[in-house]
Amino acid sequence: MNVLVLGSGQLAQMMALATKPLNIELRAYDVGSKQVINPLAQDQVFGDLASGIEYADFITAEFEHIEHDVLTLCEASGKLRPTSQSIKTGGDRRLEKQLLAQCQADNAQHIIVEDEQSFNAALKELQLPIILKSALAGYDGKGQWRLKSLDQAPSTWLEIADFFAGSTSEIPQGLVAEQMVPFDREVSLVGMRSATGEIKVYPLTENHHTDGVLSVSLALENEEKLQATALEVFTRLTNTLDYVGTLAIEFFQVGDKLLVNEIAPRVHNSGHWTQQGADTSQFENHIRAVCGLPLGGTELLRPTAMINILGEDSVENDILAIAGVAVHWYGKSKRPGRKMGHINVSANTQEQLQQKLVAVAALLPESAFSDIKAYISNLEC
Ligand code: AMP
Repeated sequence: MNVLVLGSGQLAQMMALATKPLNIELRAYDVGSKQVINPLAQDQVFGDLASGIEYADFITAEFEHIEHDVLTLCEASGKLRPTSQSIKTGGDRRLEKQLLAQCQADNAQHIIVEDEQSFNAALKELQLPIILKSALAGYDGKGQWRLKSLDQAPSTWLEIADFFAGSTSEIPQGLVAEQMVPFDREVSLVGMRSATGEIKVYPLTENHHTDGVLSVSLALENEEKLQATALEVFTRLTNTLDYVGTLAIEFFQVGDKLLVNEIAPRVHNSGHWTQQGADTSQFENHIRAVCGLPLGGTELLRPTAMINILGEDSVENDILAIAGVAVHWYGKSKRPGRKMGHINVSANTQEQLQQKLVAVAALLPESAFSDIKAYISNLEC
């Protein structure tokens, strides 16, 4: 079977690696060069989008910020999974909020901001502090403003007005102003829905962020109640979208309540641990769903966590000497804070996992990993 992935980054790369044993050939459409390439040998170029669509039995996406005319062309071929509407919803916080309302999924109180008038309305109707997030092309905490006091409002509005004026997007830019949620922790649910409506989800993952970017994910055990709540939301959202493929939901946990922060219509960084910690990884299961193959097991095989490698292009090789450690590099050039790779750490028990995480953290350089090291040392107590 042949699959075309829209986007040619590490997620397409890991889908290709995961599905080679199933005899699935995967090519990736690079949105920058507008060429179809081999996601693993990126200098191997096959042709333009039209030839990629022709080649594919199925088409999917590794990210949600894809030009709409590309999505339209792919959808017209009848091969695109999930639907373009699902992908667009993940790429526009306004559509995301509409979907959450339609599915009665709890989320932070919010107001859509499109001009100064609606900005002022948000200040009136929401309690401070509030967070303002760009509706389009915002991810990993980019395109966001936090407002703690009304004194900050005039200067914040000037920055936002500038941001709107500089937008090159084909659709009008806007913001979602949200009340800040005093959450206990951030968790996410990654799962998949097949074309026949079968749903499978992985265990919830606890997520830690460093400067707004995911840095550690820990697969959770013994959270049956929370897991059931998250599954219910997943089921409502994916059934409403008639979704096919992997979808991730990021939540704020407040007590035993889960508020949806955002959804990602694709494989997700907080699901990378499934490569070593689950029977079938999110990458293989995504392509299985897209190609109409049976879904693989999503149970946690053994306690597992993932550490992102941010902004570094090497780590001590001694890390590999720790049993249960797997290092995944993406082959990207080094930039501060950039997602360069990740380390999965697995063990037989939670206690052993914590010991291994501490051992791994001890080998990571202080400069780039200080926040991660602090998080891991707190897990230990
Ligand atoms: P996002 O891009 O929506 O994932 O936001 C980046 C990070 O900002 C999240 O992971 C949270 O830590 C924080 N954040 C976003 N929205 C809120 C909110 N309404 N209340 C509290 N923290 C938030």
